[in-house]
Amino acid sequence: MKFVEAQRIQNLPPYLFARIEQAIAEKKARGVDVISLGIGDPDLPTPGHVIEEAVKALHDPANHQYPSTAGMLAYRQAVADWYARRFGVTLDPEREVVSLIGSKEGIAHLPWCYVDPGDVVLVPDPGYPVYSQGTILAGGEPYYLPLTADNGFLPDLAAVPDEVAKRAKVMFLNYPNNPTGAVASKEFFAEVVAFAREYGILVCHDAAYTEIAFDGYRPPSFLEVPGAKDVGIEFHSVSKTYNMTGWRAGWAVGNADAVQALGRLKSNLDSGIFQAVQYAAAAALNGPQEGVAELCAIYRERRDLVIDTLNGLGWRLEKPRATFYIWAPVPPGHTSASFAELVLEKAGVVITPGTGYGARGEGYFRISLTLPAPRLAEAMERMRTCIDRVAF
Ligand SMILES: *Cc1c(COP(=O)(O)O)cnc(C)c1O
Repeated sequence: MKFVEAQRIQNLPPYLFARIEQAIAEKKARGVDVISLGIGDPDLPTPGHVIEEAVKALHDPANHQYPSTAGMLAYRQAVADWYARRFGVTLDPEREVVSLIGSKEGIAHLPWCYVDPGDVVLVPDPGYPVYSQGTILAGGEPYYLPLTADNGFLPDLAAVPDEVAKRAKVMFLNYPNNPTGAVASKEFFAEVVAFAREYGILVCHDAAYTEIAFDGYRPPSFLEVPGAKDVGIEFHSVSKTYNMTGWRAGWAVGNADAVQALGRLKSNLDSGIFQAVQYAAAAALNGPQEGVAELCAIYRERRDLVIDTLNGLGWRLEKPRATFYIWAPVPPGHTSASFAELVLEKAGVVITPGTGYGARGEGYFRISLTLPAPRLAEAMERMRTCIDRVAF
């Protein structure tokens, strides 16, 4: 049988990392010891006290039944308490917090709540691919906001044409930013609130990396800015902060109507997060936070190694203040694809071509710091010896 795929599936480009995994597999099959600096997935384990909490919860039969879609009140309370402690943001756990099966799930589903076919969604370019894919699946049209080095990788809201802004229902933003490592100030967030208010746009801020920051910098939540809760919601999860990407526990918080609309949609699609996982995630949020600082110290050391190596080869990169990514221009004369190919060919190292994050990623590549220090050191040693010095 040959089944014809629906148009909405045909419209989706192949998931970026699926292509990269294929290239790695081909190299490995030829006996090359490939080191991947591609996917951003923490290599370090989930903290022990979190695992203990999950084990305890696993033994309680009450947790073997369907959870509630919105999340246990204890889980939503843990999220609200963490927001209060970390950002000074007050949230009503019953109305302003909804659980997500990882924030990616909520980001992908959000457009179904507010986007009709033909509506515009403002999407950063380069950006996390789920913003545009979720938009396309809902029948919406992404309008790409260029993130350029000249603007510190912040969108220029004044450059959005009036007629586009008027058709826009939703705007996605993400700071600290994947893939650029850029950060946003509260002043920028205040401009976003004013823009969203003027045009009636729901702001969806993806805050996945607020806890992965360096050199004393503490990234703000979008919800810290006055009026943010009127116009926006924030997506977050335990994934990056506590090395819990596999557990699938996230949340959306902020504007009560939007949080509840997402909850209503989800109640028709899924049945929430496994309760043992909710207990574990709550333990991560409520428990000791020293591990987060230790994690950041590890990423900082890796960041410095990569930046020093590239700068030694002729790059002139500044050290990002947050995220576990390095976003760097390709050498003159290269495209993102040709440079990624060269590095794989000569050094056996996988870097992500910037085009995987949108057309404006052309001319860049991304390195992820999520692999053990000796492997990262080996990758940098290969870059140092196999890649020619470049002049920018
Ligand atoms: C990793 C990441 C997330 C988190 O995804 P989860 O589904 O919560 O694991 C969200 N946004 C961006 C930009 C990310 O890189």
